[in-house]
Amino acid sequence: ARSTPRRRAAALAVRCAAGGKQNVLVVGSGGREHALAWKLAQSSSCGTLYVAPGNAGTQLEPSMVTLPQLNTSNHDQVISFCREKGIEFVIVGPEQPLVEGLVDSLSAAGITAFGPTAAAAQLEGSKAFMKNLCRKYNIPTAQYETFTDPAAAKAFITQCGAPIVVKTSGLAAGKGVIVAQTLEEAYQAVDDMMLNNAFGEAGTTVVVEEFLTGEEASFFAFIDGENCIPLVGAQDHKAVGDGDTGPNTGGMGSYSPAPVLTPAIEQQVMEDLVYPTARGMCAEGTPFRGVLFAGLMIENGRAKLLEHNVRFGDPECQSLMVRLQSDLLESLQAQCRGEQVKLEWSPDPSLTVVLAAKGYPGSYAKGGPIRNLEAVTGAKVFHAGTAMKDGQVVSAGGRVLGVTATGKDVVEAQRKAYAAVDQIDFPDGFCRRDIGWRAVARLREGAGR
Ligand code: AMP
Repeated sequence: ARSTPRRRAAALAVRCAAGGKQNVLVVGSGGREHALAWKLAQSSSCGTLYVAPGNAGTQLEPSMVTLPQLNTSNHDQVISFCREKGIEFVIVGPEQPLVEGLVDSLSAAGITAFGPTAAAAQLEGSKAFMKNLCRKYNIPTAQYETFTDPAAAKAFITQCGAPIVVKTSGLAAGKGVIVAQTLEEAYQAVDDMMLNNAFGEAGTTVVVEEFLTGEEASFFAFIDGENCIPLVGAQDHKAVGDGDTGPNTGGMGSYSPAPVLTPAIEQQVMEDLVYPTARGMCAEGTPFRGVLFAGLMIENGRAKLLEHNVRFGDPECQSLMVRLQSDLLESLQAQCRGEQVKLEWSPDPSLTVVLAAKGYPGSYAKGGPIRNLEAVTGAKVFHAGTAMKDGQVVSAGGRVLGVTATGKDVVEAQRKAYAAVDQIDFPDGFCRRDIGWRAVARLREGAGR
């Protein structure tokens, strides 16, 4: 019989059921990948666990082998490495390698990989693709038009009025979205994206869309063709400053669950957004396999889609992994075999505070020492932009650490996370002091305090 990804995943399952352990590779270097690897390492079927390129956090974990030199954008190098080390299962964390087709290359080489193909990763890699899918399959989202001509984009903006949202169609590391309060800001965004080349190729097509109001949340689901399995929700904090002020970042903190996502809204998200996306992708000939992360705007008890991402969120993943009680490796593999997996989650909320380098999301220095990490208690410190220098952990990126705690309620999770933050000596870092404020306020209102 021809070797298909699903057959290979099934054969892998038979070997594992016979007591075999398997070697696993996690691709990526962020807090998300540290959290995924930390959870995978707890699996009884996990053999040697490799992380490439990883960070100082994965280097310090005795259960992981970190490969800072492995060039994960060189697919042949990744495949050769997998063959050399007998790696049978690969989890690709970030969007860039997914959009670049790493899962396709691994599959073609006979290696089972978790994540969508390049064609399916367009859901995130091209906002124009995602919005057109929404239009075609009636998925609730902001009204929009796409443009390749700046004059036409500006004429549409004038016609709609402000506030209005201008987005690069391509990937821009979370920075290609301008929520313009005035027409001038919107015209400027069009100029920056389309004429001044601020986002390179990503900005040659722009999406101009209706400004939505409401409360944002994230919802995660496993998708395998037309089968969808709901996971859980989370909320993140994109703005850099307390009170959700200042410019947007990749995310300054998160918590799970998101109280705004009631069971009724979760059901609506599955029915109106997730299933139609899965069915639409199949109908388009680009079936989706992997984890879908729907960015939502919720108003009056109904969710609209802001964006689809084709991977776990960062820092949401950190908050999710500490709540996950199921075996992650077995769940991901069952998902690759097309089985209906049911994941178990702790009811206790979790909360992640991101420590970032001073200056982020603008320019910031690298190399700032981070001390006292070994003394932290009551929380798990996931690393993001960190490196080892002469035996010392130093900063090596904008978002540096994700300090994650759980508690019997979100107030306790928040208290434990900040107590741990305060144990860390990172003079060149900063964090928001109000991560979780919405959930905390809801809890206090509910308790009548
Ligand atoms: P995205 O990458 O598309 O999720 O956009 C990043 C952030 O921009 C979102 O988390 C929202 O805060 C904001 N945003 C994006 N689209 C809209 C919209 N249509 N209306 C209001 N805010 C938006």
